[in-house]
Amino acid sequence: MASKHRLSTSKIVHPDKDPVLNEENPFDAMMSRFDRAAELLDLEPGIYKILRNAEKQITVSCPIVMDNGEVEVFTGHRVLYNTSRGPGKGGIRFDMHVTLEEVTALAAWMTWKSAVVNIPFGGAKGGVVCDPLKMSVGELERLTRRYTVGIIQTLGPDSDVPAPDVNTNERVMAWVMDTYSMHVGHTTTAVVTGKPVEMGGSLGRREATGRGCTIVTTDALDHLGMHVSKSTIAVQGFGNVGSTAAMLLEEAGAKIVGISDRDAAFHNAKGINIKQAIEYVKKNKSLKGFKGGDEIQGSELLTLDVDVLLPAALESVITTKNAHDIRAKVVCEGANGPTTAAADSILDEKGVFVIPDILANAGGVTVSYFEWVQDRGGYFWDEKTVNDRLTEIMRRSFADVLALSKSHKGNMRTAAYMLSISRVASVHRLRGIYS
Ligand code: GLU
Repeated sequence: MASKHRLSTSKIVHPDKDPVLNEENPFDAMMSRFDRAAELLDLEPGIYKILRNAEKQITVSCPIVMDNGEVEVFTGHRVLYNTSRGPGKGGIRFDMHVTLEEVTALAAWMTWKSAVVNIPFGGAKGGVVCDPLKMSVGELERLTRRYTVGIIQTLGPDSDVPAPDVNTNERVMAWVMDTYSMHVGHTTTAVVTGKPVEMGGSLGRREATGRGCTIVTTDALDHLGMHVSKSTIAVQGFGNVGSTAAMLLEEAGAKIVGISDRDAAFHNAKGINIKQAIEYVKKNKSLKGFKGGDEIQGSELLTLDVDVLLPAALESVITTKNAHDIRAKVVCEGANGPTTAAADSILDEKGVFVIPDILANAGGVTVSYFEWVQDRGGYFWDEKTVNDRLTEIMRRSFADVLALSKSHKGNMRTAAYMLSISRVASVHRLRGIYS
C-alpha cells in the first residue's frame, strides 16, 4: 500500500535522521498526516493525486501609498485548496512570515477542518506579507482594499469566502466586503464572515473558536475521567482564540495557571484572573507588565505541569525539541498546526491526548457557516441559538473522531484526517472528473 502513495516528497521522518526535511515546514506537516490517513483509508491513487494538490494559487502585488507619501509594494496570496464540497472557506492573515507554502498548508487544513465538522465548504486561505502593528489604520485599509481587488476573481459567496485570521479582524472584513460590493454593484454580505454584527455578522462569531476549544476540552477531560472544574490549564497566545478560551474555561471552573502572548508569559499556581488579564491587554495592547502572576519564559509555559495545554498562537511550537518535556495530559490545538508531525509520535508515546487543530479550532469556521447561512437567508439568529448549534456540532464531531480513533486504534489526529479525507474523497468519487 505504501508504495502507491509515495508520490509525496513530504514524508516526515525524525529530523535527526533526515536533516534535509524541515520539521517546521507546515506543508510537510500537513502532507505527512495526510499520507498516513490516506494509507489507512486505502485511498485510490487518482483521488490521492487530486487531494495532494491545491486547486488554485494566486499571488498578487499590492502597491499602496504609505502615509509618508512613498509607495510600498506588498505581496499577497490566496489559495483555494479544494472546493469539491462547497465554496472555498478560510481566513486572511497579515503577518511578516506569510509564504505561499504556508498559505497552501493552511488552505488544506481548512479543507479537512470544514469536512471534519461536516459543513458544506471547501478550504481556502489568504495572507499578506506585512507587519500590521507598524501600519496606520489608513495604510491597512488601503492594503486590504488593494489585496481584495487583486484576488477579486476568486471571491464570492458561492466561490470563496474569507474570514479573519492572524492579525485581521471584523474591521478588515468590513473593508473586504465593501470593496467586493462596490465592484459587483450591490451589497453582498455573504462574501466574508466574521464581519461586524451591524453589517451581517453573526452573534457569537467572535467567541466561536475559543468556545469550540472549550467544548472539546470539556469532552476530552470527561473521556479521560477528569473534570473541567477541577483542571489546571496553560494557554499560549492571548489573542481572540486564547483569551476567549481562557475566559470560558475559567467560567467552567478551571484554574488557568499560565498565559502568554508574544511579549510575555506568566504563571500563577493559584489561578490567573482572566478578566483582569483581558482588561489589561485592552488597555496596554499586550500582556507585558501584567501583574497577575510570576513572569516566566515563553518556552516554560509549554512545559508547565498542567492538565491541559492550549496552544493558541502560531504553527510549529511543539517540536522534537520540547515535546519530551510536555507535562499536560491533554493538548487542545487552538492554533493551526501548533504541533509538528515529528512531535506527534513523541506525544503519542507519552500518552498525551491531543485534540487536533482541524477539530479543536473548528468552532470558528462552524459559526462562519452559520453567518453565511444567515446572510443568505436574510434572517438572523439570537446568540443562544448560535451557541447551542455550535455546541451540538462540536460535540458530535468530537464523538465521531473519538469513535474512529477507537475503532482504528489510532490517535485523534489520524482519526480526524481519516474522517475528513474520506468525506472529501467520497464527493470526488460521486462528482467524477470533468475533462
Ligand atoms: N481563520 C479561522 C480558521 O483558521 C476561521 C476561518 C473561517 O471562518 O473561514 O479556522
